Amino acid sequence: LRLYQVTRKFRDEPKPRFGLLRSREFYMKDMYTFDTCEKAARHTYEQVCDAYCSLFTRLGLPFVKVQAATGSIGGTTSHEFQLPADIGEDRLVLCPQGHFAANVETLNGGQTSCPTCGEKLTETKGIEVGHTFYLGTKYSSVANAVFSSAENKPQLAEMGCYGLGVTRILAASIEVLSTEDSIRWPSLIAPFQLCFIPPKRGSKEEEEGAALLERVYDDLAEALPHLAGDSVLDDRTQLTIGKRLKDANRLGYPYVVVAGKRVCEDPPVFEVWNQNTGEVLYVTKEGVIELLSKVQVP
Ligand SMILES: [Zn+2]
Repeated sequence: LRLYQVTRKFRDEPKPRFGLLRSREFYMKDMYTFDTCEKAARHTYEQVCDAYCSLFTRLGLPFVKVQAATGSIGGTTSHEFQLPADIGEDRLVLCPQGHFAANVETLNGGQTSCPTCGEKLTETKGIEVGHTFYLGTKYSSVANAVFSSAENKPQLAEMGCYGLGVTRILAASIEVLSTEDSIRWPSLIAPFQLCFIPPKRGSKEEEEGAALLERVYDDLAEALPHLAGDSVLDDRTQLTIGKRLKDANRLGYPYVVVAGKRVCEDPPVFEVWNQNTGEVLYVTKEGVIELLSKVQVP
């Protein structure tokens, strides 16, 4: 049995800080699992850990799964999913070869080398974005959470509990992916995937460029309807393209489509900026649509 919820939580946080990273109110996904025996419960535990790993991989986040203290929740096995970052509040030690990763809370004294390969462990700070606990019967014994076994005997459920900090994942991913002057979103959770920038008012491309860009949008909306609601038009045409491109970069739209000088060529050529790689491609309308067909949207 697996029960989960994604809901708003309140915590009387003594030191709220770093914006959404540590706040009094936040969204969290939590789940409680109940199995008939330890073997099945351990299997569930592994499955949830794997699901968390694939979630962070799909988001393109550099995460580490570390052994963690069970703390006040208790249980026998626990892991945290951490994003290494200087502003992180947890201290982690990692084997450079990836054999071993732990929150320093779990280490007795000065463990400095990897138990597998003996290499010196490196220390880093991390932002915790997920946590898993294998609870055994700690809570089922107290709450008398029993089921009838095959022999019709009451038996205690083996439990696990699992959490993902939804709000914190948002803030932490920006923290670890962004550069000094621009936001970088994981494409899957970017508020908008695309920004369209028409020519500057009064430029010689103005009329033709705006109309052509609109046609790109219409054709895109037809070919890739899932992107239609994920697009923004920056119609502040009193500003230069360069200024708007800079703003788009700061806000971190994964892709920016610009109707620049070459939009008056035959066939018209658009600039497509991939903000995450810094790459710019010059392509026709069909090229824009083909390029954007690879964009992943949930
Ligand atoms: Zn190692």
